[in-house]
Amino acid sequence: MAIFDTEALVLRTYNLAEADKIVVCLSRSAGLIRGVAKGCRKLRNRFGASLEPFTLINLTYYEKENQELVSFRQTEILRSRFNLSGNPSILTGFSYMGDLLIDFSPPHQANDNLYRMALACFEAASQSPGDLESVLRYFEVWLLKIEGFLPDLKACGSCHRAFADETVYLAGDLSLRCAQCSDSRGGAVSKHLHSHLRTTEKLPPAKFAEDSREVASATKKEMAELTFQLIGRVLERMPRIRPNV
Ligand SMILES: [Zn+2]
Repeated sequence: MAIFDTEALVLRTYNLAEADKIVVCLSRSAGLIRGVAKGCRKLRNRFGASLEPFTLINLTYYEKENQELVSFRQTEILRSRFNLSGNPSILTGFSYMGDLLIDFSPPHQANDNLYRMALACFEAASQSPGDLESVLRYFEVWLLKIEGFLPDLKACGSCHRAFADETVYLAGDLSLRCAQCSDSRGGAVSKHLHSHLRTTEKLPPAKFAEDSREVASATKKEMAELTFQLIGRVLERMPRIRPNV
C-alpha cells in the first residue's frame, strides 16, 4: 500500500453505504482519481466540508496495487467555492466542466496542462460569473486541444496551406480544410468564428472571456454549436448536461 499527497479539485461525489462517499477528483499529480472517503457523511468527521464539489484540496490518499478506487485519508481545504452554491447557473456550468473532465480524462494519468487549464477556467468563472458562457467555450476548445481532438486551426488539413482570414470547412475526419480542398462541403466555420477560435490559443480564460464581451452573439452561437458538435463526435453521444446560459 502506497501513500500519496496531491493537490486536487473535487468534481463529483456519490453516496456509498451508510456513511461513506465515493469522490471523483482531478488531481495535479495523478490525474483523475476515484476514492472512498470513509465516514464522511457522519456528523463529526475528519473531512468536514472539504469534499463538496468544486473545492480545491490538499489530498492524502492510500493506493493499493491493482485497485482503481483509492482510499482518502486526509484533506485540507485550499479554496472553497461554497459561496457560489446560491448561483444555479454557475453550479450547472461547473458540473458541466466536471462531467467533461471525467469523460475525457483517462484515470491515473497526470496531465499538468489539463489540470492548470481546468483550474484557471473554474477560477475565471468564479471571479466573473457573468462571463460563464465564454469561459465554458474556452474550456471546451482547450479540453479538445489538450486531449488531441481539436483540428489544426492554423492550416488546411489537406493541402497544409496556412489559413488567411477566410471561411474554412470542417471535414468528416474533424480536420479543417480550405474552400478549395473541401470543395465547400462540410460544416462551414465563418471567418469570424475562425478568428475567435484562434484567440483561445493566445489568451488565458479570464482575458478571453473579457474580450468575448465585444464579440457578436451570432459568432458566439456558432462557436457553441461547433464545440458541441466536436464534443458529441468525440464522445459519440451528447454531453450529459450542457448549460443554456
Ligand atoms: Zn487546402
